[in-house]
Amino acid sequence: MPSKQALVKTLDFQLEIQSGNENLLYGACIESRRVYNETIRLAKNGVDWDMIPDRVAADVDLVKNTTQRVVAKALGAMENYYEYDNFDQPSHTKDGIYPLRANYEEGYNLFLTDDGDVAFRISAKPYQHVEGLLKGSDAHLDILKVGLESDEWEIGTAEVLFHNDSPELHVNVTNTDQTVRDKQDSQTVVGVDVNEDNVALTAFSEDGIKDTIVIEFPEIKFERHRYFTIRKRVQNAGKRSVHDTLEDQEERFVRDRLHKVSRHIVKWSRQFEDPCIVFEDLKEIRDSLDYGTRMNRRLHHLPFRALQHYTSYKAGFEGIPTAWINPEYTSQECPMCGHTERTNRNKKRFKCRDCGHQDHADRGASVNIAAKGIKNHQEWTVPALNSLPTVRTVRRQASGAVDAPTVTHDTVRGYQTDGITGVSD
Ligand SMILES: [Zn+2]
Repeated sequence: MPSKQALVKTLDFQLEIQSGNENLLYGACIESRRVYNETIRLAKNGVDWDMIPDRVAADVDLVKNTTQRVVAKALGAMENYYEYDNFDQPSHTKDGIYPLRANYEEGYNLFLTDDGDVAFRISAKPYQHVEGLLKGSDAHLDILKVGLESDEWEIGTAEVLFHNDSPELHVNVTNTDQTVRDKQDSQTVVGVDVNEDNVALTAFSEDGIKDTIVIEFPEIKFERHRYFTIRKRVQNAGKRSVHDTLEDQEERFVRDRLHKVSRHIVKWSRQFEDPCIVFEDLKEIRDSLDYGTRMNRRLHHLPFRALQHYTSYKAGFEGIPTAWINPEYTSQECPMCGHTERTNRNKKRFKCRDCGHQDHADRGASVNIAAKGIKNHQEWTVPALNSLPTVRTVRRQASGAVDAPTVTHDTVRGYQTDGITGVSD
C-alpha cells in the first residue's frame, strides 16, 4: 500500500506594519533567542526535560504558546545533538534574534479585509500586538485567502523572522484534501534540467526512456536581458522610482512565464504512470555555466529556483511528488558510458570524449538527473540504455501577455500563442 502524506506548504510574506511598533517584534525575537538559549542551558545542566517548559516560562516576556513553541524547538535541537553524539561541538546557543513561533489563533491571527488584503495581528508580547497587512506573491496570498474562507487549506503555525532587517511571516498551511504520493512509490521518474532559456525533460520507467523533450522559452531570457539594460540606463540617470517600477514589471513578466512553463512540465509529466519529478538542488550555482560577470550571475539565478518551486508546487496539487538530487556532474557525465569530463560539454552540444556519444547537452543532463533520482529514491534500478530517443523541441511563445513589453524578436521562428506552441526537430 502506498502511504500518502498531506500537502504541507510554507508561505512567505513581508509584514507591512501599521500599528507603529516595529521594534516590539524585533524585541520579541531577541526574547525568543533568550528562551532558546535558556532551554539549551537547562537541558545541558541535566534538568529534567519535562520541567524545562515551566522553568523557562516563569520569567519570560512572550505569550505562552510562543514560549512553548520555542522551547520545543530548542529541545528538538538537543535531541539531534545527542543523536549525532557531537558533545565536543561548541554549544549551539547564539546571540541575536530567533524566529518567533506562534500557533494560529493563539499567537497570531489573520483576517480578510474589505479591500481583499490579508491583515495580521501578532501577539508579540503579552497584551501587546503588532498589526498590519501581509505582502507577498499572489500565489501565496491566494492560498491564504482560500484558507481563511474555506476548509481547503488549514492554517497552522507561523514564524516571525527578519530578512535583511525586514520583518517576515512564514505561515505553514496544510491542504486538507490533497495528498501527495510517496516519492519512493513511483513507476516513472522525470528528470528536469532547468536552464536560462529552456527546460529539458526525460521520463524513465523500469523499461527504459519513455519520452524526452526540450521546452524552449527564449523570450524570458531575452526580456530579462532587455530589462536589465533599460534599468541600468535609468539607474545611471538617477531615476530610482522608474528603476523600481521596471524591476516590478520584469518580475511580473518572468513569473507569469515561469508559471506557464511549470504548468507545461507538470502536464507533460502526468501522462506517465505514477511519476516523480526530479530536480537538481541548486543551492550551489552550477559549475557548468559561465558566470562571467555580476550581471550574468543575477540573470541566471532567479528563474532556476523559481521554476523548480512553481513546478513542485503545481505537481503537489496533482498528487505528484518531487525529489531533489545533487547537481554535481549532471551536465558533464555521459549518459551512455558514464565517462565524466568537463570538456564533454560545449554550450548546448554534448560529445563524449570516450565513447563518442553526441547529444543535446541539456537533454543529456535531464537523463542523468532522472537516473540519479532513480538511484536515490526508487527500489528499481536504472535501465540500461543502448540509444537515446530523438530530442523533440517545443517552443513557448506567448502573445499579448499582460504587463509584458512588446516582444519584437523571434516572431518568425515562434509558433503560436499560449499552450504548447509548436513542435520541431
Ligand atoms: Zn560516453
